[in-house]
Amino acid sequence: MTNPETGLAVFGGTFDPVHFGHLKSASAVMDLLGLSRVKFVPSFVPPHRINPSSTPGQRLSMLRIATCADDTMQVDDREVSRQGVSYTADTLVSFRSELGAAVPLYFILGIDSYCTLNEWDRWRDLTDVAHLVVLDRPGCSQEIPDEVLDWSRSRLVDDPKDIRHLPCGTICLVSLVQVEVTATEIREMLKIGTRPTGKMPEKVIDFALEHGLYC
Ligand code: ATP
Repeated sequence: MTNPETGLAVFGGTFDPVHFGHLKSASAVMDLLGLSRVKFVPSFVPPHRINPSSTPGQRLSMLRIATCADDTMQVDDREVSRQGVSYTADTLVSFRSELGAAVPLYFILGIDSYCTLNEWDRWRDLTDVAHLVVLDRPGCSQEIPDEVLDWSRSRLVDDPKDIRHLPCGTICLVSLVQVEVTATEIREMLKIGTRPTGKMPEKVIDFALEHGLYC
């Protein structure tokens, strides 16, 4: 059972593969918002990019290996089980119906994803069911589109403490741990036979190598 006083953070993405940018950011968000758990939700088919190089099952396995030693981190397979294109709007509605109306629900995304928000299906509905916690990310040079800026303005909050008593409805831009790593660079390193030490958990690297991923 989720503690209604703290709420639930959901971290969606392709996780192809999961890396320390995801894991350290998730911990930092939990600390910031006083949460006791975060759920990683890998997509089955991401709507805005070419299909991942690894299978949904392999991405789920890597997430499970990366989080198994930490009770606060859980992996949720609802997008993989649902199959088809994975829409965040559907996922957040399903979490909301499980949590009830009053429990805070936070959706974590990087600033690069936020810059493409207006391309997401039913993007304006997301704050009807969740807060958006937008992570600053090193090296992101994309601009937030005017349409997203206009829509965000009345929802933005400066201090995350102000949203901890609300179930949904706000957007918080945060600058927490700055982990300069991308899944793209990890895939490229593995492709040329370089071990991505320090960029993701060692056991996840071992899994990727054992399964010949990204070679
Ligand atoms: P790729 O390089 O394949 O595009 P990625 O590293 O961006 O992958 P995703 O699984 O696509 O990883 O990211 C899931 C979510 O995590 C996205 O919202 C993304 O913006 C965010 N994210 C990824 N890496 C970081 C990071 N280093 N710092 C903050 N947010 C991140």
